[in-house]
Amino acid sequence: MSIEVMPNFLKKRAFLTPSRTALIFEDKRYTFQQLYVECVDVAGRMHTYGMRQDQYVALLLSNHSESVVILLSLQLLGIKAVLLNTRLTREELNYQLKDSNSAFLITEALFKEKAEQLDVHIVYKHELFQTSYIEPPLVNEVALEEVCSLMYTSGTTGSPKGVMQTYGNHWWSAIGSSLNLGLQDGDGWLCAVPLFHISGYSILMRSMIYGMKMVLHESFDVEKTLQDITSEKVTTMSVVSTMLSRLLDHLDSQLPSHFRCMLLGGGPASLSLLERCVELQVPVYQTYGMTETASQFVTLSPEYSLSKLGSAGKALFPSQLKIVDSYGLEQQPLESGEIYVKGPNVTKGYLNKESSHLKDGWFATGDIGYVDDEGFLYVQDRRSDLIISGGENIYPAEIEGVLQGHVAIQEAGVIGVEDQEWGQVPVAFVVVRDPLITEEEIIQYSSTKLAKYKVPKRVSIVDELPRSASNKLLRRSLKEWVKGGASNEN
Ligand code: ATP
Ligand code: MG
Repeated sequence: MSIEVMPNFLKKRAFLTPSRTALIFEDKRYTFQQLYVECVDVAGRMHTYGMRQDQYVALLLSNHSESVVILLSLQLLGIKAVLLNTRLTREELNYQLKDSNSAFLITEALFKEKAEQLDVHIVYKHELFQTSYIEPPLVNEVALEEVCSLMYTSGTTGSPKGVMQTYGNHWWSAIGSSLNLGLQDGDGWLCAVPLFHISGYSILMRSMIYGMKMVLHESFDVEKTLQDITSEKVTTMSVVSTMLSRLLDHLDSQLPSHFRCMLLGGGPASLSLLERCVELQVPVYQTYGMTETASQFVTLSPEYSLSKLGSAGKALFPSQLKIVDSYGLEQQPLESGEIYVKGPNVTKGYLNKESSHLKDGWFATGDIGYVDDEGFLYVQDRRSDLIISGGENIYPAEIEGVLQGHVAIQEAGVIGVEDQEWGQVPVAFVVVRDPLITEEEIIQYSSTKLAKYKVPKRVSIVDELPRSASNKLLRRSLKEWVKGGASNEN
């Protein structure tokens, strides 16, 4: 079998459109040529440190232009980047460093305290940038099947798994996205999501592949976002539900007409949030994807944003999906089952793990959903969180969405607990905005919106919900609360 190779993405981009803006971060601006020159320089300093092709090098870095330079310098050396979530604990970080056999950790002073407790050779970026330069052996070509980045899943359903993302995965992800969202002169993508997460890293890859500027923010800040959308002529932005909801709260006029797309992913979106977007004329594109698919896999095309509200859309051009029952048989439209995906942006597997998730090239996502008669996907929930009550399937995300539609409720988490009569029943944990609302009122409200068997049998008002380092709701911790009878409740 022939191995497909492509030129190094940054080098090629700097050759094609050297003077286009590549990156904007605070008061710094780089063209693609400037970025390339800087990365070659940093690659030489990495070489001095003994960083070599095919090694895994871990990164514990905040969103910063220097982090972009480091990530792209690693690609120039053919080194695989291990992107660490900066909110992980020492144990979690040590696990990922060990599992990936990382030769070095590049970090910054901000994370000194955490870094010093880690079992790895540490290089601070300010030292790296100051060390001497030795001409490095640049990798001018990459094989598409070669691993570019290793990213651990968020650990929502269990321990995080190291996902091997190849150059081909990133390439096809970027191409699939552009065939759906389009690519226009002057496009700019705002990145206020972490670079260590596929949502952020994929913006960087698209920037090079498309020749598009990336406007990078250190973290999400509503005012700065609205300001840069206007002043830097941002056309697209990646958001998760909480970011979008905060943006809508602050929006006092329509977004400028050059703004084309709010790409909403990372988890379920409630119908009330999507309806608010329609009302405020925010062009929102629902999307479904995961670390294993190198970002978006399914996205709702703009012409369907109203008629298919709540759907994540259709699989992007290079990709396919199917819905499978527990016997492995393909389901008919409108029948729920596990979502299987296939395509060139799907990972070849987890590092150091037998991949039981891959069957004949189809990847079993662990998520449940259905497609309608026209093939639009509706994601219902994680398979592991499905509640079966008296033979009926209940999706916690649906109940959470309804609860979050109540003005007095800020956030909700729903799990199934054992019940003698029904097998399992749903119970809810909520964080409230209005301390006067009672648990009975919440149950009463739910019963006006949900079929009887879906109405939570108990509601507990709590101070906060357990969340992962990626800020995802940890239902498995809620289950432990119930099991242990732990009271985090008010
Ligand atoms: P782990 O695999 O370790 O449990 P994780 O699945 O949360 O962690 P990610 O790869 O960050 O790790 O998240 C991908 C998951 O996010 C998807 O499998 C799905 O469950 C959820 N998700 C993404 N987009 C959507 C969406 N549009 N609707 C519902 N769920 C979504
Ligand atoms: Mg997952």
